[in-house]
Amino acid sequence: MSLTTVAGGFIFLLLLFSSGAVAIGFSLEDEKAQIERFQQYLRIQTAHPNPDYAGAVSFLSSQARSIGLKILTLEFTPGKPLLLLSWAGTDPSLPSILLNSHLDSVPADSSHWIHPPFSAYRDSDGRIFARGTQDDKSIAIQYLEALRNLKGRRFSPLRSIHVSLVPDEEIGGADGNEKFVASKEFRMLNVGFVLDEGQASPTDEFRVFYADRLPWSLIVNAVGAPGHGSKMYDGSAAENLMECVEAIVRFRDSQFDLVKAGIRAGSEVISVNPVYLKAGTPTPTLTQKGPSRDVTGRPLVTPTNASNPWWSIFKQAISASGGKLGKPEILSSTTDARFMRQMGIPTLGFSPMANTPVLLHDHNEFLKDTVFLNGIKVYENLISALSSFDSDVGV
Ligand SMILES: [Zn+2]
Repeated sequence: MSLTTVAGGFIFLLLLFSSGAVAIGFSLEDEKAQIERFQQYLRIQTAHPNPDYAGAVSFLSSQARSIGLKILTLEFTPGKPLLLLSWAGTDPSLPSILLNSHLDSVPADSSHWIHPPFSAYRDSDGRIFARGTQDDKSIAIQYLEALRNLKGRRFSPLRSIHVSLVPDEEIGGADGNEKFVASKEFRMLNVGFVLDEGQASPTDEFRVFYADRLPWSLIVNAVGAPGHGSKMYDGSAAENLMECVEAIVRFRDSQFDLVKAGIRAGSEVISVNPVYLKAGTPTPTLTQKGPSRDVTGRPLVTPTNASNPWWSIFKQAISASGGKLGKPEILSSTTDARFMRQMGIPTLGFSPMANTPVLLHDHNEFLKDTVFLNGIKVYENLISALSSFDSDVGV
């Protein structure tokens, strides 16, 4: 929305904030403070097996307090807090926006790092080294900094905005997001749309993920005729097992051929990998972890077409911030996003990290300061556009 007034012969063009508005640039001092807060969070030891959840929650709560967000700490499992931050919209009856990030990180073996993994060392190129820079402490701070700037500019969201900072994503989320989405506290948020973590992109296009892959574990138990090892006979357990493994390998090759030929992305085929071999008591079992459909019976994917109004808003907000978006992808692994999709809530995986090598779970994980700062502006656009969406789209 723009408003022109004439006063004393001068024309003032006031650009008032509305959905899709481009974020204002930061001063050098703002940038310094934003990077310092990111480094402070990175220095909290949140790696498994003993993540400092109390330290992370205390730091993030103090940030939320300074921004003026409502703070609620939930604990579905003792010692595993979940921090829920909220900014009430002017129409709380509309479904809300949820920004999700996990508190925990995977371990880091410091002997393989050029700078200690919890030092958040920033080199002369602006690269900030720390476990969690990409996965996914950057987005937590970017959400908060974007909200801080929006508050500073007296933005007023129509829809309520919530930020959930959840434990245990890296170890499956059973005591984290899985319990959260099943809780009455979650139901009361009336969430209409979720942004969760994505991945870095080596090109200048941001990546966006509309589904996670489903992990299934298949246990094959082979049985067969017994016999002495010196004797030739058919149908032994080991022979039967090998036939089964060969069939799986043939299937794996056929899937891999599609990837090698460029017909499918690595995340669009069924990957199968033998991971463990053990002798034992035979009981045929197929273990499937997690459902493949949501509570309404639809597949666990978030539409990235005109049928999903959130998608259009998301796309527009990305271009309004000067960003480019790659073709929507299925994530090659799993994140907490699957729990929200299981509830039937449209959820996109997104981390604004263009021109950045994918280093999640890798040694020397880093994020450049300029990429981090640009991400804050991207989230300002996204949050203002999504929270200003005035149509009553149900969950
Ligand atoms: Zn992650």
